[in-house]
Amino acid sequence: MQAPKYTPLVGRFPLTDTKYVVVTGGVLSGLGKGITTSSIGRLLKARGLSVSAIKIDPYLNVDAGTMNPFEHGEVYVLDDGSEVDLDLGNYERFLDIHMDRYNNITTGKVYRHVIAKERRGDYLGKTVQIIPHVTNEIQEWIQATGERSKADVVLVEVGGTVGDIESAPFLEAVRQLHRTVGDGNMVLLHTSLVPVMGVVGEQKTKPTQHTVRDLKAIGLHPDFVVCRCERPLEEDTRSKLALFCDVPEDHVVSAHDCSSIYEVPLILEEQGVADKVVDRLGLGERVHAPELDGWRDLVRRLVRPQSEVTVAFVGKYTDLADSYLSINEALRHAGAALDCKARIVFVEGEALEAQDPKAWADLKNADAVLVGPGFGQRGTEGKIDAVRYAREERVPFMGICLGFQLAIVEYARSVCGLEGANSTEMDTDTSHPVICILPEQYEIQELGGTMRLGNFDCDLKDGSLAADLYGATRVGERHRHRYEMNPDYVERLEQGGLVFSGRMPDRPIMEVMELPRDVHPYFIGGQFHPEFNSRPDAPGPLFLGLVRAAMERRGLDVPVAVTA
Ligand code: GLN
Repeated sequence: MQAPKYTPLVGRFPLTDTKYVVVTGGVLSGLGKGITTSSIGRLLKARGLSVSAIKIDPYLNVDAGTMNPFEHGEVYVLDDGSEVDLDLGNYERFLDIHMDRYNNITTGKVYRHVIAKERRGDYLGKTVQIIPHVTNEIQEWIQATGERSKADVVLVEVGGTVGDIESAPFLEAVRQLHRTVGDGNMVLLHTSLVPVMGVVGEQKTKPTQHTVRDLKAIGLHPDFVVCRCERPLEEDTRSKLALFCDVPEDHVVSAHDCSSIYEVPLILEEQGVADKVVDRLGLGERVHAPELDGWRDLVRRLVRPQSEVTVAFVGKYTDLADSYLSINEALRHAGAALDCKARIVFVEGEALEAQDPKAWADLKNADAVLVGPGFGQRGTEGKIDAVRYAREERVPFMGICLGFQLAIVEYARSVCGLEGANSTEMDTDTSHPVICILPEQYEIQELGGTMRLGNFDCDLKDGSLAADLYGATRVGERHRHRYEMNPDYVERLEQGGLVFSGRMPDRPIMEVMELPRDVHPYFIGGQFHPEFNSRPDAPGPLFLGLVRAAMERRGLDVPVAVTA
């Protein structure tokens, strides 16, 4: 068999002056590559550069939509409705940008493209191979996304660890891309682990030496080695690593444990990482002094807040904080704006249902109740009990997606006398299907089980709690649901006192429900997921309202919120 002729990409792309910062990882997964990537991006942005990011997920799934949040963390949803890895959430939050499906590359997506091209005959009878066809596809994807974003710098995070079979084609593509764009247009940061061993607490460098050797074996030389460690790297450790990894000492970066992920940019800044990246990329002329005062202030409020409230989060995959990462972050953002820590206590819907005394005590000790998103029947009756408790006891309440739907079910049953009311997701034969699949959605479902995904506009009723919180009467939020409020029941519920204060323009889709402020201090829910648009310095308005209401319930002084 004749080897296919290699067609380098040089020349095929009108090479713009896009610069690339590539982040790889070694030793272990879960080292916080996403936070390192986001933090570098934030520091570049603070110097006036525009930044975009690409996450490479070497798994075979086409997207994260079908992945179990318990195994893989939450499914993050973008404006365009794509379901992606939760790291894209970190990028959006740290960089305050909006991304789309092209910012997440998976093996599944790449192979799907390559196979489609092969079926179309685009390869003109050639043997289609990992090198060059798959690696070219990856390079093209990275460069095309870089160009489309018009960003000065594109961050590329390669998921997995060096040495994995799955990530090999991507690392090879990065090696080729380095040749294509040339030295000085790409910087490579390799993240690694520096464990501490023994009673004396010695920082061990061997795992990092090995992973850097693996990286070099595939033709990649790191410009920086970012070391995750419990405590700051000692001078000895740093010089040893510099010697063995063949990088300057000041390119060995200490990424030590800290109290908030939002502190990481400041830790990197102290070590001058961003300035060195800027130098390596020849961007010195285009940057200004870093503007980080606002961020420093934010970190102060996150790390040393003036007060604290407790929010009971009622959900399902509660063992794993990552399953609801964006909600955790949104509550953090809201707390930071009010100089108050919103401590989250996880409460299992199922445990409430089983009358577990600890679960009920946790719920009742909280200053606010948040019923989160979810799918399927398990634990829903417990969640409905939590809504009833919050409504009757006038405890600040917020419902997200399923939480919004269950608040409607509870109101229908308890206040409107619609006995047995339910969502048809939980009970197909319910006497009162207050939440159901609309006919148009049903058709979609028959075609393969997709959902209403992504950003949709929502009109808010003038003077409502929702409109006051948002400070606007038209807002856009992201969605991920299949069921919705049954329009046939809207009037019955409104007559019963529930207010539908947010609706989709021109369609009978209910987006926000609330109780009047003279009936309940804070009772609101959205069919959408406001957590995906929350930013550290611009918290989601419904979360801000919840934390504020929790503070008021505790009789705490509520400061004017600090927002961007
Ligand atoms: N299971 C509900 C639906 O599909 C809610 C989904 C969610 O909470 N994201 O409509």
